[in-house]
Amino acid sequence: MASSTTEAESTESGGDFAALGLTGAVLDAVRDAGYVEPTPIQREAIPLILRGRDVMGLAQTGTGKTAAFTLPIIERLVGGPRRTRVLILTPTRELCVQVESSFRKYALHAPLAVASVYGGVPLDPQEKQLRGGVDVVVATPGRLIDHLERQNVVFDDLEVLVLDEADRMLDMGFAPQINRIVSGVPPYRQTLLFSATMPPEVEALARKYLRTPIVVQVGRRSAAANTVKHYVYPVPRDRKSALLADLLKREAMESVLVFTRTKHGADRVVRHLEREGIPAAAMHADKSQPQRTRALEDFKSGRTRVLVATDIAQRGLDISGITHVINYDVPQQAEDYVHRIGRTGRAASEGDAFTFMSPDEIAMVRTIERIIGQEIPRISVPGFDFGTVAAD
Ligand code: AMP
Repeated sequence: MASSTTEAESTESGGDFAALGLTGAVLDAVRDAGYVEPTPIQREAIPLILRGRDVMGLAQTGTGKTAAFTLPIIERLVGGPRRTRVLILTPTRELCVQVESSFRKYALHAPLAVASVYGGVPLDPQEKQLRGGVDVVVATPGRLIDHLERQNVVFDDLEVLVLDEADRMLDMGFAPQINRIVSGVPPYRQTLLFSATMPPEVEALARKYLRTPIVVQVGRRSAAANTVKHYVYPVPRDRKSALLADLLKREAMESVLVFTRTKHGADRVVRHLEREGIPAAAMHADKSQPQRTRALEDFKSGRTRVLVATDIAQRGLDISGITHVINYDVPQQAEDYVHRIGRTGRAASEGDAFTFMSPDEIAMVRTIERIIGQEIPRISVPGFDFGTVAAD
């Protein structure tokens, strides 16, 4: 992929993106997005997808994987008939909305209609949109089945099926819904599967639905975004909320995503921060869709500096400019650490990841260190009363 063109020439002609096989409207959108060169997953996956191959992409969020499948799909759709030719399945409403908005961004110069359908909001507007005819449907499995049952959408002309964050879809128990949906789409299609991890269940899914797929893997299996600096704060459980408030007051933290293990935990942290005069919002499955949307908008616009979320709620959030991720609770699965950290240090921006580790969480932190392949430095806060500090 070595090129002798200067950067100016390269940008003018679409440069590296054109070399991957992308043209016209897609290159215009890439230029508008300000992308200078493809990310590794884009470099590998785009030419294969353009050639019509089934691809299994092993890549976490933050690697540019959405553009890796969206750009070649748009290239394929441009100039074709207005039929529903693409279905993208995602695990959560947030990711669904996120993928839809990426699609719109990359299809800005192409006359394509895209609909996102997800639960927690009324069916009618989605029904209207689907019945009006769309090229692309981005959907969560449960809500899509509601629409299929009402025959609001048919997939007789489907050409491309994307299973995004397949591991998370299976974790969330969507296997029966996926089976049902896929059994109703044409067998002669291109299938793309993206997953941050490749447990046996995902491999089985790929064997079932993909035809001689090419596996595209970016970096090490669970490599956390490498622009991130990691730190562990050993702290007794009952001092965590005080430590959080202390850090938020003393450090220059512009945009902070805090993870708790439970929904109650998230609410408790928000209440504590508000008592300390730090505005914060919670994001978890018990919040209604309008509440989630508002929390996200307030966070994105900078009105609230701190968003407290559970793991399920965080997948698919594309919020640029997060300066700090704080693991208030150590994630129960090491892979979730990688996903959480994927929220900061996205693409080329820098970020810090702090993990609050109480004594009962030491073993889990060690497991995480093995998975990410690095030891995380332990640090302390001068002047903060840690009570009895956890020994490690
Ligand atoms: P994703 O992994 O799809 O969630 O994308 C992560 C972020 O990277 C998104 O905010 C994209 O806008 C951004 N991105 C995708 N491709 C590129 C690229 N080639 N250059 C710079 N940023 C990109």
